[in-house]
Amino acid sequence: MSEGDYQRWVCDACGYIYDEAKGDPDSGLAPGTKYDDIPDDWYCPLCGLAKTDLRLLPEPVAVAPRKTSTTKAAGAKCKGGDDYVVIIGGGIAAWSVAEAIRQEDAEKPILMVSACTACVYPKPAISTALAQGKSADDLIEIDGESKAESLGVDLRANTRVLKIDTHKKRITTAKGGIQYGQLVLALGAEQRHLPVSGDAADQVLRVNDLISYRKFRDALDSDAKHVTILGAGLIGTEFSEDLVAGGYSVSVIDPAQSPLASLLSETTASELQQVLSEKGVDWHFTCRLDSLDVSHTRMRAVLSNGDAFETDVVVSAAGLVANTSLASKAGLQVARGICVDACMRTSAQDVFAVGDCAEVNGHIYAFIEPIRRQADVIAAILNGTEQKFEDLPPLIRVKTPSYPLTICTPNTKGGESLLTVDMGNERRDYLIDDALVGFVLSGGSAALGAQLYRKIVS
Ligand code: FE
Repeated sequence: MSEGDYQRWVCDACGYIYDEAKGDPDSGLAPGTKYDDIPDDWYCPLCGLAKTDLRLLPEPVAVAPRKTSTTKAAGAKCKGGDDYVVIIGGGIAAWSVAEAIRQEDAEKPILMVSACTACVYPKPAISTALAQGKSADDLIEIDGESKAESLGVDLRANTRVLKIDTHKKRITTAKGGIQYGQLVLALGAEQRHLPVSGDAADQVLRVNDLISYRKFRDALDSDAKHVTILGAGLIGTEFSEDLVAGGYSVSVIDPAQSPLASLLSETTASELQQVLSEKGVDWHFTCRLDSLDVSHTRMRAVLSNGDAFETDVVVSAAGLVANTSLASKAGLQVARGICVDACMRTSAQDVFAVGDCAEVNGHIYAFIEPIRRQADVIAAILNGTEQKFEDLPPLIRVKTPSYPLTICTPNTKGGESLLTVDMGNERRDYLIDDALVGFVLSGGSAALGAQLYRKIVS
């Protein structure tokens, strides 16, 4: 069988791609296992949705990768040019744009400038890696250089961008200047920095990429027993279950009254809280971490409600903040993220933004499925076809295996909400004029998510 006979399927909830050529060896599916031969009890290894929830991806366009400077003699560095698309970033948004451009155009010169190594890894897997026995390195699918070569992309890895000059169409990096024809900002986001006092305040880890995740795992491996998580949102809640499953004691601190407070009803949130409490998660709601001080070989955390405990690792999961400083220094319009129109264009000519640094119509999209669609829009426009990003509500699968949740929060407010509870499985439908615009599904109902989602987006 030739490689071209293999198809690729995507999980819209988490962005996982089942590539028939690669299979899913961790779940016992050998390379070459066709979708039809996947057993019915197989689940998405990232989020747990079923085989039937995967969607067939369009056939990739066969391209002959260009020769790039990554294959040139050592030391030869690509300096871009007027014909180049320069992408700043090295994460999933940056690679999605490079892939989407290659789908459209086999020859377009692309230069990627990344502050890190630009290795490719499934970011949603970070919050369940521990329980699955995977190290940070185990998550890497392919290194940056190999990925760049396969796509015919010039990669300037470990190169920090200092300045963008949108008039001269030039960026300044710590390793020299680069000229662009079009620029794509895929600058990502960071976990919010929370004000904490005390002599160990700088020990709070903020995990949002593989480098910071590696530090987090190193800290856990240094004989840690207790972990404090700041924030009971999606990432904090997923981390809490992953860590208790990995054998750590876990305390979660959040100013809200319950986990995932902005997404869940009181009943569902308290059910989730209860299930995770039984697993060993120690919740501290309606309070904050006030101070963190060194206490012998550990740290002492004091909360705003007076509670205090010893802890070994503190990780912030208080929400993402878009990386906008480079863009705002360049004079681009910036709000919570870098402002873009429906064509992903920023306020500067020939400069686009994509992923969780970009704000479209007041929304920032941090999930993989919308980021891929944003990348497709940019690629189409670079190829001369006007296309618009459709502002669809994302499908969110909360990766808490003991209490699965599938959430689609409506983009528009108003309408009515309808709650059905059946044997502890809760389903809340959001309706506008009797049409389904969003939902929250818990327990056994969670498996219906992908099916319902298609009704909303079709
Ligand atoms: Fe998935």
